[in-house]
Amino acid sequence: MRKPLVAGNWKMNKTIAETRDLVFTMSMKLRKIEGVEKVICPPFMSLMAASALLEGSGIGLGAQNMHWEEKGAFTGEVSPAMVKELCGYVILGHSERRSYFGETDQTVNRKLLAAQAMDLVPIVCVGETLEQYESKLTREIVSAQTSQSLRDVAPAYAPRMIVAYEPVWAIGTGKASNGPEANDVVKDVIRPALAELFGNETAQAIRVLYGGSVTSANADEFFSQPDIDGALVGGASLKIDEFVAITKAAASTEA
Ligand code: PEP
Repeated sequence: MRKPLVAGNWKMNKTIAETRDLVFTMSMKLRKIEGVEKVICPPFMSLMAASALLEGSGIGLGAQNMHWEEKGAFTGEVSPAMVKELCGYVILGHSERRSYFGETDQTVNRKLLAAQAMDLVPIVCVGETLEQYESKLTREIVSAQTSQSLRDVAPAYAPRMIVAYEPVWAIGTGKASNGPEANDVVKDVIRPALAELFGNETAQAIRVLYGGSVTSANADEFFSQPDIDGALVGGASLKIDEFVAITKAAASTEA
């Protein structure tokens, strides 16, 4: 049985003071929802404030990125050990990192292996661009991203990883994919690629989220799909009622 998970990616939003307000109110509501793993991922600057407020809440904290090196002359970067001091999770290879900051499957894989060494739970993002989608390259692209980004992981760590299928054309656009189409990509492309890497049993144990314009209005459509185990939520994770409603929708899918 795969426990549903909902993670909120705040991206570059909210100052420390704003984070305190949002986490304080949101966590009061989220902590009452059972049967779903809940994670919020504020910007680095706000992690310390969020961590203090989330203590004992059962709500996980994640970073949105990290470097793979342990330490050294990497100005502006944050190391895995620094993330581990405050977080249990880390988002890796988000499409905004891939498109604006030159991340590749190879650098995502280095980060994933660093997350493994630090025993962080990674949320590894894969997904095709609009151009690739329109050229009917989704399967090829997502399969290659999954195989390359998740390679060389130890069998014992693999079931702890989380994959997020996020079609780039659906992120922040208000144009979500639809449940059956997203489920097909997870079932026919991502899980077979995971099975190739780790065997079928582990592939069935790894949680795969959908991400891309998830709202309270369409959450059920995704969560009712057999191969979709929750959501990585961007814009709607900054709105208390929306994120709480999405989390409740995921909780109600636990068998
Ligand atoms: C995301 O940032 O991962 C995301 C899915 O964003 P949005 O929900 O705003 O599309």
